[in-house]
Amino acid sequence: MVHETGFYDLLGVDPKASPEEIKKAYRKLALKYHPDKNPSEGDRFKHISQAYEVLSDPNKRDLYDQGGEQAIKEGGMGGGSSPMDIFNMFFGGGGRMQRERKGKNIVHQIGVTLEELYNGSTRKLGLQKNIICEKCEGYGGKKGALEKCSNCKGRGVQVRVQQIGPGMIQQIQSMCPDCQGQGEKFNSKDRCKNCSGHKVERKKKILEVHIDKGMKDGQKIPFNGEGDQEPGLEPGDVIIVLDQKEHPVFQRQEDNLITKMNIKLVEALCGFKKTIQTLDNRMLVISSQPGEVIKDGDVKCVLNEGMPIYRDPCDRGQLFIKFKVEFPEKDWLPEHLMFQLERLLPEREDVMVTDDMEEVDLHEVDEQTQQRNHSGEAYEEDEDHPRGGVQCQTQ
Ligand SMILES: [Zn+2]
Ligand SMILES: [Zn+2]
Repeated sequence: MVHETGFYDLLGVDPKASPEEIKKAYRKLALKYHPDKNPSEGDRFKHISQAYEVLSDPNKRDLYDQGGEQAIKEGGMGGGSSPMDIFNMFFGGGGRMQRERKGKNIVHQIGVTLEELYNGSTRKLGLQKNIICEKCEGYGGKKGALEKCSNCKGRGVQVRVQQIGPGMIQQIQSMCPDCQGQGEKFNSKDRCKNCSGHKVERKKKILEVHIDKGMKDGQKIPFNGEGDQEPGLEPGDVIIVLDQKEHPVFQRQEDNLITKMNIKLVEALCGFKKTIQTLDNRMLVISSQPGEVIKDGDVKCVLNEGMPIYRDPCDRGQLFIKFKVEFPEKDWLPEHLMFQLERLLPEREDVMVTDDMEEVDLHEVDEQTQQRNHSGEAYEEDEDHPRGGVQCQTQ
């Protein structure tokens, strides 16, 4: 039984969420609340990171489930990494350490359809980024015309003295606004007109994102050195993260696809022929033979009709079909014909009712009561397998 759910709530997931669901939730929220994108939500970003740090580690998650945040603190397991470390670890490029003198990476998420991941596609993404000013080549003005900043006397910082109490003063240091902390600046006539002395200019850059067949939700596509340029720094990377949208028909599970199919009782008992439209718009025909009985909840599969395997797209996973058998409505068969049906069906078992037995009425179960029973269970079952379906057959 889960004690505290605060960390789960922060990530917006159920306490029974799988590690993948937790990853996905963190991915979405971390990108949304990253200080670069949402500077006013710094606390939120921190809390999300804390929650993820605990829930992504099976040991810490266990501890949290048992004793809540308190147990994490007492166990000395809290606050290990900074939110930025967690973020960089999660989204970091090809796994190499961030080198010194390298600009920061920029992470973008793009929504993709299952069709795009199945067939592959190319997306053009327009990005605003800083590039070294072409006019002054990142120098900021006329070569050799740099002058010492008169405001800060070349120190780059301003010092202000503030009295904070009787006999107590505090020195506050801040970046010199005149030279942006550089200590040197151009006078207005020598300053580069193109970048106003900023050394970089904002330019739109189009990135072509190649989505290969079989790529997955959450997969990262790095563009090395496409981050902001800055004089003296190696530019960081742009990292594109794929975010797969839900599909109305197919669910993906690793390289397999799962779909649901409703069949009528007659089809379940006497065979059927059905079509399935694939993600590349082919029509598959599937059929069952007369005599083969498909039960409600049965799962069958079609080989090699799942998702293409990444980097080996001729190979594909499997397509799983989960059947739901639709029973006819109440009173579909006039009572006088019932015996004909009964004659054809497997024989029923009769119960001998004796005097010491009690005969009771069978009622419809109202939805709410059933739901309450469900959530009390130790584990959840798929909605396609309602519990207690059996009790209506033994009557
Ligand atoms: Zn310039
Ligand atoms: Zn200055």
